[in-house]
Amino acid sequence: MYGAGNRYVRVAPSVLLLLSREPSKNNMSEENLNPVEQTKLESHYLQGTIPAELKDENPFFSKESTHLLKHHGTYQQDHRDLRKEARAMGRDKYYSFMVRTRIPGGKLTSRQLLAELDLCDELGDTTLRVTSRQGLQLHGILKDRLQPVIERINSVQLTTLGACGDLQRNVMCCPAPHRNDPVHQEMQNLTDALTEHLAPRTKSYHQIWLTHPENGEKELVGGGPDEVIEPIYGKTYLPRKFKTAVGLPDDNCVDMYTNDLAFMAICVGGRVEGYNVLVGGGMGVTPTAVKTFPALAKKLAFVTPDQAVAVAEAVVCVQRDFGNREDRKVARLKYLIHNWGLDAFRAKVEEYYGRALTPPTAADVTGFDDHIGWREQGDGLLYYGLNIENGRIVDNEKMKLKSALRRICREFPSEIRLTSHQSILFTDIVPDRRLELETILRDAGVPLSEDISTVRRWSMACVAWPTCGLAITESERALPGIIDQLEVELAKLALDRDEFTVRMTGCPNACARPYNSDIGLVGKTLGKYTVYLGGRRLGDRLNFVYKDLVAADDIVPTLRPVLAFFKSQREPNETLGDFCFRQGQEKLAEFSEKFR
Ligand code: SF4
Repeated sequence: MYGAGNRYVRVAPSVLLLLSREPSKNNMSEENLNPVEQTKLESHYLQGTIPAELKDENPFFSKESTHLLKHHGTYQQDHRDLRKEARAMGRDKYYSFMVRTRIPGGKLTSRQLLAELDLCDELGDTTLRVTSRQGLQLHGILKDRLQPVIERINSVQLTTLGACGDLQRNVMCCPAPHRNDPVHQEMQNLTDALTEHLAPRTKSYHQIWLTHPENGEKELVGGGPDEVIEPIYGKTYLPRKFKTAVGLPDDNCVDMYTNDLAFMAICVGGRVEGYNVLVGGGMGVTPTAVKTFPALAKKLAFVTPDQAVAVAEAVVCVQRDFGNREDRKVARLKYLIHNWGLDAFRAKVEEYYGRALTPPTAADVTGFDDHIGWREQGDGLLYYGLNIENGRIVDNEKMKLKSALRRICREFPSEIRLTSHQSILFTDIVPDRRLELETILRDAGVPLSEDISTVRRWSMACVAWPTCGLAITESERALPGIIDQLEVELAKLALDRDEFTVRMTGCPNACARPYNSDIGLVGKTLGKYTVYLGGRRLGDRLNFVYKDLVAADDIVPTLRPVLAFFKSQREPNETLGDFCFRQGQEKLAEFSEKFR
């Protein structure tokens, strides 16, 4: 059986659905569509010329196809370290593809993880990456290997459809495997229902990538008559990417406020009574466009569990019909809400939903658990959260992480969970076998989560160079060295047990969510970063620009006085982010000047 992500919806009869609502013409004037919208419109539901281009001799796709391919879960990239070499060899570039698997709630099996590890070795660049949205990414896939890679991912009941592109992407959910806790089960159920209901239903994915194992025919497991091909998305899908998360007030481990849409579970008596619905979060900024900005989501309403999917659909359909399709820079939901105001947006959602919405409750985030280390899962068994630095699974001279994960998958076959902090949870471990698992990791040179510093544990970087085409600076390759230096500074000040987030990205698109972290480092121009301070681990506050255009080598020297100021003048139990927020940019800079 192929692809879990593209079937007709199955919904409880109690769920009010809006499937019959046609995409509105409000925002669809064809002459004003930006080129990506035009490409989607003419693609016949994301097919375009991908099938023909897959057969040509080129190692790359046309620009139009690269836009469409994102919806299929793949980005065309090139090895940016090797551009000069490519030119010297008379080549354009060394092209390859990133293939992202959509994994709702980061929930997969050991067998599925093993399949991805096999793929990275056999058809990729020998590495696998856990993303900041609980997905997996393969890198370095050559064009003629794309079809077998995507087919093999589907053959283990995973999918890449909708992992990228202008539609609902991977729905995040708290990954903690609390076996006897109905709350976590209900949240995962909602995650699965949202995933299924808002999945694209085009036949193109299956027709292009999936071949029947016996007769070589293309396998068709989704789709239907033309008029219902995309009842929610229509021909042009959404104006921009759309991110959704399901989380808890006391454990905001999915960073709800950074999502276009989030459901914050409100629990009473050990059950989910309903959800506060948050709308309009989004981190990405276009450096050249001052009209762009990061935003945290705002509270829209309270919904009961059986209303959640229909309200999600209403929000998606309002964005579909009124999101900006002329200028992609301001096409995310946050700009629509900014332009209309929350009340007008709520009124439109109510119109689409067909009834008034209940105001949200006062509940808000109070905690963030990264689920790392040994934990009880509620049924006598344990789970182990392994910190994967920046999500990269690789064997190198320092450690054989990939080999260790293979052994754990084989010797502890069970459910695996991926976290939004790019780490892995191994579940269902008998307490007696704890040492056995630790030994596998230690023998491979992999530091146990307990052995890494607090600052490294709470750090996160996007991929950036050499594969991301938008990267301005290093990120994944730079952050470990910066953390090395920070560890020294923090130890000197006896701040090494303080918990705060350090997030780095190679450009302002902000894939690793730097704008709500305690310390955000964002690539601004070649080799230089903007340093942000004053966010916090809870994820409910944006940080501010502390210093701009800081060279990579100056990042830690720039932070050193701030840390000293924090050490000397913090209030009891005050976090770094709260301290910086209380002081503000000017006072921090003033102190730093004197400190120097
Ligand atoms: Fe690429 Fe920018 Fe995203 Fe980093 S933040 S992965 S550099 S787009």
